[in-house]
This record gives sequence, structure tokens and C-alpha cells, in this order.
Amino acid sequence: MANQKKRVLITGAAGFLGSHLCDRFLAEGFTVLGMDNFITGHKDNLHHLEGNPNFEFIEHDITKFVGIEGSLDYILHFASPASPIDYVKIPIQTLKVGSLGTHNLLGLAKAKDARILIASTSEVYGDPLVHPQPEDYFGNVNTIGPRGVYDEAKRFQESMVMAYHRFHGLETRIARIFNTYGPRMRLNDGRVVPAFIGQSLRGENLTIFGDGQQTRSFCYVDDLVEGVVRLLFSNYAEPVNLGNPDELSIIDFAHEILELAKSESKLDFMKLTENDPLQRQPDISLAKQLLNWTPKISRKEGIKHTFSYFAALPKEQLLRNEHKDFTTRNNEK
Ligand code: UDP
Repeated sequence: MANQKKRVLITGAAGFLGSHLCDRFLAEGFTVLGMDNFITGHKDNLHHLEGNPNFEFIEHDITKFVGIEGSLDYILHFASPASPIDYVKIPIQTLKVGSLGTHNLLGLAKAKDARILIASTSEVYGDPLVHPQPEDYFGNVNTIGPRGVYDEAKRFQESMVMAYHRFHGLETRIARIFNTYGPRMRLNDGRVVPAFIGQSLRGENLTIFGDGQQTRSFCYVDDLVEGVVRLLFSNYAEPVNLGNPDELSIIDFAHEILELAKSESKLDFMKLTENDPLQRQPDISLAKQLLNWTPKISRKEGIKHTFSYFAALPKEQLLRNEHKDFTTRNNEK
């Protein structure tokens, strides 16, 4: 059929980035097959797609064999826990989805003759000794630290993708994603953007790990999605950084949130988590040159959208604090 729609498989479809990618590819006229096992993703993120004739969903754990009927043109692999709290709670699943899961999807891509793009991460740079981080920096990762399960799975993932590209001639793309935020993040996943917004909405103090001088560079989800789309349709197989270079310290970010929320809350200083990178800022020269891509949405604007999203959540969801529940359960054991 000359006019048949292209079909894309999106793993982690019920997650934050995965669900936004589903929306974007549906808007572009694709047939989208979403896959998730709901370990960290949530059905609510796909609720609005129920009944959409161009959207199918399969509940499946991709660390097990992935069998798909029919043709596939593209695979976007975005399934993974992505928060330091998750790495501690579900370390083995984190390792498996980046390694075994990626292997299954590479096999699927080969069988279907599909192009595959994988979500890699700035965590491949670890606690970086080069600043900002360009793609040719090899990184500084502690293999056995608490974050090692994520960082090393993603590093292995990149190696395996390049092996399939070089050995099997598979069409592959690697996006190294820096801190991204926006609506549909999990309110209590422990990451700094939802953590600070949630705390300010509940009238709690904001928890700063360490002295708050560590930096991050936050990219709004719509900019990231645009970068992913451009990378997928480029012809470049090596890793490309996608992120917003607008860097700031965590303490400055906390003050921005308090101002936006018109909150009187104070800052609670807590222990810095092990191997927490002290600085992080993407060098996006390659993405600019290759994809003509640069983030367009300022932090002020993006955080406003995100704040409104969290503020509109049902109250019981806002008051639930999975992180505290988890700590309490652990202490009871
Ligand atoms: N952070 C913080 N308070 C929180 C959560 C996070 O100070 O309640 C800090 C954390 O130590 C890190 C930064 O915010 O330096 C970003 O943390 P996040 O978990 O969002 O992502 P990471 O970039 O570390 O993977």
C-alpha cells in the first residue's frame, strides 16, 4: 500500500518522555505501538490516547523476548527507571532494562529492518572532569556506586548499539539526554524538579542535598522531543548530546521555585548522595550543527507550565509521598 502509515514502537510509553513521544509521533501521522511494564510508568500518562485508532498498547517487560506482529519502521527505546531513588529501590531491573532490554530491541530492529534510537544519558559522563561535556569526553563513572546500575547499563547500551551498527549495519541513533523536566514526571520520584515543586505546593521545606552548589542544566520536554525527532531522521549514528546549556546551582533553583510558588518555606540541608555529579552542562555544538537544533523554551516558561501541571493534580496525589513511605517501610524491616 503506497499510503500506509509508518509504524513506530515506543518503549517506556507510559513514562514521562515516552508518553510525550507517543503524542508527537501520533501528531506526525504515525501509527504508534506503546510498550511499558508500569514499574515506573503510569497508565494516567496514556489515558488521553484511549480509543485513538492509531495507538496500540502492549503491557510487556522488554527484558523478556519482545515479539511484535507486523512491520515496524522505527523503534524508540525510552524504557528505564530514571531517578536516583529508583536505582536504589530497583537496581537489578535498572541494569536489566538498559542491557538485556536493549539487546532484545536491537534483535527486533534487525528482524524488522527498523531504525532504532535509544535514550542514553548525561550519566555516561558520571561526575565529569570536563566542563561542559562534549560527546568525545569518556566520563568519570564509579561502576560500583549506587548510580552505577544506571550509568553502566547505559554505557553498555551505547556499546551494544554501536556493535549492532558496525557489525550488522543496523540503522541506529544515540541521544545522550541531559536533565529534562515537564508535565507527567512522577511527583514523588525524588528528582529535583518534581521534588521542589511538590514540597512548595505542600508547604514543606525544600530539601537541598549537600550545600546546593552542585549544578544542573534543565531542558523542557518539548525541546527534548524536537531534538529526538530530528536525530531520528538524521543520518548520524554516533552519540549526540540533547539538553539545555542554561546551567544553575541547585540552591539558586530552589530560590526560583520558592519565588514562583510565593512560598515562605525554608531550605533543609541534607547529606549529599554518593557520587552526585557536582556539575553538569551539555555542550550542544554537535546537535546545533548536525540537527540545526537548539532549545527554545526558557526555564522560566517551562517551569511555569510544569508547576501548573502539578498544582492541578488531585489533592490526594499531591499529598502522597512515596519517598517518605518507602523510607518508613525500610525502617520498619
Ligand atoms: N537534589 C536536591 N534535593 C532533592 C532532590 C535532588 O538537592 O530533593 C539535588 C541532587 O542532589 C542533584 C540535583 O538535585 O544534585 C539533581 O538531582 P536529580 O535527582 O533531579 O537528578 P540527577 O541529575 O542527579 O540524576
